[in-house]
Amino acid sequence: MRFLSLGTGGEEIGATPPTATPATSPTAALSLIDHANARLMQEITEFLLKSRLPITAQNLLLAHAAFSGEDPQLARKIGQKRLAGETITQEWLNTLLTKENEAEAIKAMMVQFEDSLGRFAKTAHDARMSAAHCNAALEKEVTRASETPETFDPEDLIELGRTILDHNRKLETDIRASESEVRTLRTRLSRAQRDAEVDYLTGLPNRRAFDAMFNRIYHETRNAVESLSIAFCDIDHFKAINDSQGHETGDRVIKAVAETLDRLSNQNCHVARHGGEEFVLLFRGMTKHEVREKLDAVRENFSERRFVNRRTDEPIGRITFSGGVADVFAYPSPRDAMRAADEALYLAKEQGRNSIMAAP
Ligand code: GH3
Ligand code: MG
Ligand code: MG
Repeated sequence: MRFLSLGTGGEEIGATPPTATPATSPTAALSLIDHANARLMQEITEFLLKSRLPITAQNLLLAHAAFSGEDPQLARKIGQKRLAGETITQEWLNTLLTKENEAEAIKAMMVQFEDSLGRFAKTAHDARMSAAHCNAALEKEVTRASETPETFDPEDLIELGRTILDHNRKLETDIRASESEVRTLRTRLSRAQRDAEVDYLTGLPNRRAFDAMFNRIYHETRNAVESLSIAFCDIDHFKAINDSQGHETGDRVIKAVAETLDRLSNQNCHVARHGGEEFVLLFRGMTKHEVREKLDAVRENFSERRFVNRRTDEPIGRITFSGGVADVFAYPSPRDAMRAADEALYLAKEQGRNSIMAAP
């Protein structure tokens, strides 16, 4: 157990030692540990309950890391948030976790890249030195043979040939190992690239991936003079579902909507999680009215399903979502089209939710 003051600018979080109990005897030492443990438990409990965070294994681990002093950076971030008087939400913690995992993975990969680069540089250097060495030896032997043929002994040349062959064989093995390392790194890199663009909860492309995709499809469809529509879908009263059923059930609801929308995916329809309980869809070759109809059918179908809380077996009842659609090329820029779709979604919310509206 480490006793650390982890707060920033005044606030302290982390297990601090009791001031009154000097650790002079085994009993005193035990009581010190007991006290620190009790204090840690209290801090974890208070943190989770006061922030109204669900008691999940992940949250417990995270709180432990912050308050035990194991992760001072995390403790600092929580301290700053508390100091600013901001609410600590699950989403905020999730983004921290994702960012941290991403950062860790990237750090590990960088170390590997550096190692590999070092080995490549050495292999390349060895190859150059070896080639120079062989050339020099061969040149010397050839000069000797032509200038003083009487001293030329074919055995010497055979011996030299063998040495050069040995050298080259070793080099070939090293180069082959380097090539295989490059292949492995390339695979890892493309996997990391893919992970950075996939939403970890739903498996859909995330907002970052969507932005790149929208940019590409926007230019392609504009050049091909094709229509393109953009739609936003947002789960209705989702906060209430989270509050009454718990965050884990909320996550499952997000996944269920994601799966439903993802069934629309094909080469002309791209679905992504734009954030929270909101999804964004691109429809190539379709007008806003066609998209509105298509999404409305999906919406209606979904709203007829009945969900049950897997943990408590209690019915959650009906879950609905609303949507807004816009024709992308009716606006001066992709951003404006997104805004129009978002405004149409807002209109659908205003008019009672569980509907899909086309931008006026
Ligand atoms: P509206 O019908 O107007 O859309 O209301 P709403 O309650 O759905 O919208 P609001 O923006 O008030 O609340 C969205 C909530 O979604 C807030 C946030 O706590 C929750 N949320 C965001 N991301 C996640 C997530 O990944 N998992 C869970 N369980 N909840 C999330
Ligand atoms: Mg919502
Ligand atoms: Mg929303």
